[in-house]
Amino acid sequence: MQYVERVLAELKEKNPNEPEFHQAATEILNGLKPVIEKHPEYEKAALLERFVEPERVILFRVPWVDDKGNVHVNKGYRVQFNSAIGPYKGGLRFHPSVNLSIIKFLGLEQILKNSLTGLPIGGGKGGSNFDPKGKSDNEIMKFCQSFMTELYRHIGQDTDVPAGDIGVGGREIGFLFGQYKRIRDEHVGVLTGRGLTYGGSLVRTEATGYGLVYITAEALKARGDSFEGKTVVISGSGNVAIYACQKAQQLGAKVVAMYDSNGYIYDPKGIRLDVVKQIKEVERARIKEYANRVKGAEYHEGCKGIWTIPCDIALPCATQNEIDEVSAKALVKNGVKYVGEGANMPSTLEAIEVFQKAGVVFLPAKAANAGGVATSALEMAQSSGRLFWTFEEVDAKLKNIMVNIYHNMDAAAKEYGVEGDYVAGANIAGFIKVANAMMAHGIV
Ligand code: NDP
Repeated sequence: MQYVERVLAELKEKNPNEPEFHQAATEILNGLKPVIEKHPEYEKAALLERFVEPERVILFRVPWVDDKGNVHVNKGYRVQFNSAIGPYKGGLRFHPSVNLSIIKFLGLEQILKNSLTGLPIGGGKGGSNFDPKGKSDNEIMKFCQSFMTELYRHIGQDTDVPAGDIGVGGREIGFLFGQYKRIRDEHVGVLTGRGLTYGGSLVRTEATGYGLVYITAEALKARGDSFEGKTVVISGSGNVAIYACQKAQQLGAKVVAMYDSNGYIYDPKGIRLDVVKQIKEVERARIKEYANRVKGAEYHEGCKGIWTIPCDIALPCATQNEIDEVSAKALVKNGVKYVGEGANMPSTLEAIEVFQKAGVVFLPAKAANAGGVATSALEMAQSSGRLFWTFEEVDAKLKNIMVNIYHNMDAAAKEYGVEGDYVAGANIAGFIKVANAMMAHGIV
């Protein structure tokens, strides 16, 4: 059996019941085949076996008391996957669906994404099956304090630097940081996505969405095109979706649809982002409200229908596996030309195949949404240097990083004979640096 196939088979056998982890590993390792063939020394060093095995997995109990005095117990996770090129770095996700499989898939992706940014950060991910929806600020604070009371001993500015993800935004990072500082008595850059008054960076809030649009704009530019006048569909209405929408609109595109986990809105005149921000960021209400407030807009229950709306560019920005084969075929039939993944692994393996066969320019998550972690690394640099860069400075660095990622994955795809296949290109470009560092460190 070939090396990649053998490692994948062993991974599935040793990690049963982890379908998302299997899916991410399959996509990554298959994309790496051209590199593996060129480097027989990797097999001798069991490099892939070590690459897919986290350096450390931390599982812990998170007990907390709600406003009525009831005691709850959630699961806490931190997977410290790979520190070959820098301290572990990756977000925390609070969502009822969180389990070890999801955290491991996200952590594995994160290794290559972080490498792609060109910055010295390793890969990690964490979270909890806690559901922040419907909880009071006090309950969120209690939960975050309990979570950090265990997590603090495993992280540090040179060890592991978590950030936000689904369900973990500025409010949660604030509570987590407050508790860390209280226990450790250290005001350091141990978490990113911090508020601007206590060590945060300008542009971090916008970074993932802006970065997604910057890299998509570069792909358009390489084909003599631009966002100007394009029809765009964006899934989600959280942090990534909102700022992808903002930047796409600034570049002249018309965003016609967005969703939350209950259903989608369609506004043929173009989404009014001020209304979405009021509903989702200020009121923390449901996207359904949009149709009550904006004339001519429609609300449809359920999410899948969003992919049947004709568009030139689709930017999935909500969650994993939101575009399956059927949705991908509907998008292609309706003329989609570009798909940029703002969320992590939003397209199933079958959906990716549909896009690639149809000649759609497909920008995979680990490249397309790397702007968030890249700006987190810029936040770390500012924290270490006790500096504070302007919005324009950070934004310019972010744009530059995204443009470089595009050209690096494009060049890697060409070099390894898979031109235009950015799934392979991103995996290869990210992997080479990590593999070199792992080989240099010996068998560790
Ligand atoms: P948020 O929590 O801010 O927003 C998530 C959005 O997706 C919400 O609109 C939410 O709807 C929707 N959503 C979540 N789960 C589901 C589901 N199962 N079905 C349908 N809709 C769902 O998260 P982010 O915007 O931060 O993250 C979105 C994606 O981007 C994730 O995949 C994340 O890993 C990825 N990402 C985020 C980065 C960041 O910097 N924030 C960096 C890189 C990647 P509802 O409001 O109903 O819950």
